[in-house]
Amino acid sequence: MVDKKNILRVKVSNSIGINVDKCYQCGKCSAGCPVSGNMDFTSSVMMRMIQIGEEIIDKQILRSQTIWVCISCGICLSRCPMEIDIPEIIDYLRQCSLEKKMQNKKSERNIIPFHYSFLNSIKYTGRIYEIGVAVEYKLRTFNFFQDLSLAFYMFIKGKLPLFPNIIKNRKHLSFFFKKYKK
Ligand code: SF4
Ligand code: SF4
Repeated sequence: MVDKKNILRVKVSNSIGINVDKCYQCGKCSAGCPVSGNMDFTSSVMMRMIQIGEEIIDKQILRSQTIWVCISCGICLSRCPMEIDIPEIIDYLRQCSLEKKMQNKKSERNIIPFHYSFLNSIKYTGRIYEIGVAVEYKLRTFNFFQDLSLAFYMFIKGKLPLFPNIIKNRKHLSFFFKKYKK
């Protein structure tokens, strides 16, 4: 017997206070999503899947590529007539997926290392330090030669600063990261 507290529908509501039942499947979120073509199911389908509240469907969501392909642009939220914060739901689902070790195999190769590299740049500099992100990403994926010519061209054009531009008061940032980790 499945403990209903563990189904995503209830967890999303209890943990981040979003009621997915408000979704009435108008499809506006997926129609505006710039990366829906790369998702295994779109945001509106995902909302319906969460609403169903079945363990087997929850697992499909946590194993999906959809939750890693999302670029958190917020277009879905701005278009949703019910103001459902899909990027926040997706962030939460990523966390659940990692906790349960259900990361999508395809995403695990490139997307998840990129997420870690991106987050570490924010954590240590407070900004996106492109060279830092690229070096960490390449070390994580062993994908050393991808986009090298593009990087060189950007460097020549002065688009890739050698040193990070670190923000003041980084301790506020570490507070957020510690809180999130908890
Ligand atoms: S936040 Fe994610 S799901 Fe929403 S429109 Fe942007 S990419 Fe698509
Ligand atoms: S836009 Fe909002 S109400 Fe419409 S399908 Fe997407 S989440 Fe549901």
